[in-house]
Amino acid sequence: MTGAGNWTWLLPGRVPTLIDAGTGDPRHLDAIEEALAGAALAQVLVTHAHVDHASGVMALAERFHGVRFFKMPWEERDARWPVAWEGLSDGQVVEAGDEALRAVHTPGHAPDHLCFWHEASRSLFSADLAVKGTTVYIPPHLRGDLADYLASLDRVRALKPARLFPGHGPVIEDPDAVLRGYIEHRREREEQILAALRGGGATPEALVPLIYRGLKEQLFQVARETVLAHLLKLEREGRAGRHEDAWHIIEP
Ligand SMILES: [Zn+2]
Repeated sequence: MTGAGNWTWLLPGRVPTLIDAGTGDPRHLDAIEEALAGAALAQVLVTHAHVDHASGVMALAERFHGVRFFKMPWEERDARWPVAWEGLSDGQVVEAGDEALRAVHTPGHAPDHLCFWHEASRSLFSADLAVKGTTVYIPPHLRGDLADYLASLDRVRALKPARLFPGHGPVIEDPDAVLRGYIEHRREREEQILAALRGGGATPEALVPLIYRGLKEQLFQVARETVLAHLLKLEREGRAGRHEDAWHIIEP
């Protein structure tokens, strides 16, 4: 799911800061050490508790003594990585490098998802809010929430960012087009699901082949989770309901 891997962002300066922890790959640790050129890593800001963003914290703690770890708490998940986590909340301003970054809570992909906003350059370290060329996975089994995600996209659009530094894929130089594209894509997907439900009650498993034609077997679970994320959003809006595992449309 991480494609070609994932980015961490190092901000050198007065408060040397790493955004996201990676996975503890020794080559990554070496690269950070080299880029720090003798400076001590002060802190790591973890955008959310998914493995590819958080699991490197123990290796970082071992390599860079005294480093502090910050994230928005998600206790059940954070406990997997036993470092002395310090909490961040929405709107909190943190010194990073020679600059100040503001935490922006952007749940949806994960409940604890934070982006970091640099007002002066209108840049957002956007983690898994957007990945150029593909959509973002919203897994209900990991407390992903599509309604929250759409609200987060609106929230970030309202900041009018000039660029996004994502957790995966290239830097996004046209954020508004990309974010609007996501909103439109989800609206189309929702229309497809509503149309499929009009044909009668259906389970997420039965909906997947109607929505995703020619889907590869190994992507079935991801597609099922995505369909379920849409159904849960529609349920919350009073537009769909379920009897046991079969979902139906509720017409206004
Ligand atoms: Zn993630």
